[in-house]
Amino acid sequence: MSAKEVPLKVYISGKLYDKEDAKISVYDHGLLYGDGVFEGMRSYGGKVFRLEQHLERLWASAKAIWLEIPISRPALAKAVNDTLAANNITDGYIRLVITRGSGSLGLDPNRTSHPQVIIITDHIALYPEDFYQNGLEIVTASTMRNHPAALSPRIKSLNYLNNILAKIEGLQSGCIEALMLNHKGEVAECTGDNIFLVRNQAVLTPPTDAGILEGITRDAVIEMARKAGYQVRETALTRHDVYIADECFLTGSAAEIIPVVKVDRRKIGNGAPGPITRDLMERFHRLTR
Ligand code: PMP
Repeated sequence: MSAKEVPLKVYISGKLYDKEDAKISVYDHGLLYGDGVFEGMRSYGGKVFRLEQHLERLWASAKAIWLEIPISRPALAKAVNDTLAANNITDGYIRLVITRGSGSLGLDPNRTSHPQVIIITDHIALYPEDFYQNGLEIVTASTMRNHPAALSPRIKSLNYLNNILAKIEGLQSGCIEALMLNHKGEVAECTGDNIFLVRNQAVLTPPTDAGILEGITRDAVIEMARKAGYQVRETALTRHDVYIADECFLTGSAAEIIPVVKVDRRKIGNGAPGPITRDLMERFHRLTR
């Protein structure tokens, strides 16, 4: 940190702390059991992209795990904006975390008190710029996405081990993202991004019931592509569909839209980011900047 730089402030349950002093209890069930929910968002030009939709998903995730968020939705929206302002961040990344709160050892959430609300605002570059220009290579992980009947991927919970195990497989193959299949062997999503294909000019992506997180960037891209006149279909996809696609790209709040040019060592299309991917990237850029 240079002399002029001030430490980042982190919001925890109503107060701002210097990054170094932003701490919660080691008895918090968020740490002990991954018991909690979160959101990752971006702000562009001082405005959080689709904040309302993120809060809606956060409340839905919390409801699914019987977690009561101890602050109203408008108050949390204000806290997010205030934390960004306190850190002078107009274009950045926001991590919103609600933990079950500290309690006794043992799973019982009734033996915890005070869910903690954490807001971290920072800058993020998920993938190097080169990948946005030339595309990413990914591999299929053997770790399948959580079975929706066991733990719905629609819940954005603090337990990300399923995704982390797949991510490690990707990294071990020299890829920074990995494709995950669902319990039926269909394409679900990547470890931290949703997936799209382009085939014969149509834009395709797995439906929610493929067992995926309903990405907010995914929603925005579907909407944007339809408005631009592309045919968009949410449909079950197999690895075969991926291999024979003309184009492939991933979406996420942190990643935005990133082209994929190789999957399981097979070139997608001609091995370069395709025209529809590029068009959608440009449109997304205009939408957000
Ligand atoms: N899938 C998973 C598993 C994710 O963790 C994320 C978010 N990082 C996404 C998809 C993309 O969702 P969003 O566009 O809402 O960030």
